[in-house]
Amino acid sequence: MKKQYETVIGLEVHVELATKTKIFCACSTAFGGAPNTHTCPVCTGMPGTLPVLNKQVLEYAVAVGLAMNCEITRYCKFDRKNYFYPDNPQNYQISQLYLPICRNGYVEIETEEGKKKVGIHEIHMEEDAGKLIHDEWEGCSLVDYNRSGVPLIEIVSEPDMRDAKEVIAYLEKLRMMIQYLGASDCKLQEGSMRADVNLSVREVGTEAFGTRTEMKNLNSFRAISRAIEGERERQIELLEAGNAVIQETRRWDDAKGESYAMRSKEDAQDYRYFPDPDLPPIEVDESWLEEMKAKQPEFREGKMKRYKEEYDIPEYDIEIITASKCMADLFEETVKLCGQPKKVSNWLMVETLRLLKERGMEPEDIRFSPSNLAKLIRLADEKVINSSVAKEVFEAMFDNDMDPEKYVEEKGLKTVCDEGALKKAVEEVIAANPKSVEDYRNGKEKAIGFLVGQTMKAMKGKADPGKVNEMLRGML
Ligand SMILES: [Zn+2]
Repeated sequence: MKKQYETVIGLEVHVELATKTKIFCACSTAFGGAPNTHTCPVCTGMPGTLPVLNKQVLEYAVAVGLAMNCEITRYCKFDRKNYFYPDNPQNYQISQLYLPICRNGYVEIETEEGKKKVGIHEIHMEEDAGKLIHDEWEGCSLVDYNRSGVPLIEIVSEPDMRDAKEVIAYLEKLRMMIQYLGASDCKLQEGSMRADVNLSVREVGTEAFGTRTEMKNLNSFRAISRAIEGERERQIELLEAGNAVIQETRRWDDAKGESYAMRSKEDAQDYRYFPDPDLPPIEVDESWLEEMKAKQPEFREGKMKRYKEEYDIPEYDIEIITASKCMADLFEETVKLCGQPKKVSNWLMVETLRLLKERGMEPEDIRFSPSNLAKLIRLADEKVINSSVAKEVFEAMFDNDMDPEKYVEEKGLKTVCDEGALKKAVEEVIAANPKSVEDYRNGKEKAIGFLVGQTMKAMKGKADPGKVNEMLRGML
């Protein structure tokens, strides 16, 4: 009988925190910038400099830990992870090994079999390294320390996931919670969220874990899914052929759809970690922790419940809107301005989702403001513009966040209220389409739709279709 295998997956997720300054100095964390302009003696590892912890980093790490049901370590320390690499000028990375800030938590994910808890082993704070740029043209490597010292948290899960779907559900949950906290924008493509996948396989029914490999360089959910499938197959093939899986770090090449070995996996002892002597331990006292708990924002579950009570919109809408913090914010702000939850929801659910998909954008990339959306809703409500013009204005607003009132004015898109002009157009359409007129008079309801369309065309789309319909019926 063929052996059945089970996949065991744990994740190490690095998240770049949204602080304005770096973890141990006052340099900017802004993305981009000319190489080595966001640097100082501290983050370039000059001798004699001293790091000072950015309090906001601790606050974000604790907030994330609380959201993920972790125990907060009341006496926590930083350690040095020693290694040489040109992107790491200190020759060590300040991280946490012995006393990480958060431990023993969990997050709940939805799976096909229902809710499932994924354990959080720990969350620790650390600094990011610089970036090496390999210039093949000049045959040299350049180093940019702008990223050196940017604060990270590393969220280490328990090996609780069993397939790619669970991994994606877990990552989406993390991303959503962290975005709700405002602790990071969590963009995989830009590297503000990075996932390393630890994967092993074992025969179904066995307790002991197989030998695991770690995969890096996964910068999209699609790449993560494909890497998991590929690595599972590779390990099973090895075992079936009577070979052993080697514990190593592998790099996933998404273009080729295969992974290759980078280096044999080091264990913690290879780094000779030791407590950082330059940073005092952090003592988290009760009152500060209580303050942090009180400051936790309303998360998705809370919002879903409140939306149901407060706004009369369908559950399906609530689910989509609250799945993204910025979509929820946009919804609430716009409703505050125009007081019409269902209409705001409709614009988000239909046109916004359509354009996001067409443009290949995420909700985080939405540029239009709540006040402009509220203005557009008012223009349509007061019948200043008709619904097809409103869609056109919305699209322009989606792309450039311009003021819809000004846009309508400048482009001359207002619905024509001049009864005389409308009447003239209707008369002309009736005269030009005797066949449809006859059809309508013989009871073919469809014919009226055609005549309305012709009149709208004659009015260059700037008439109220309801009114056109009414007038046509009256005149026939
Ligand atoms: Zn600096």
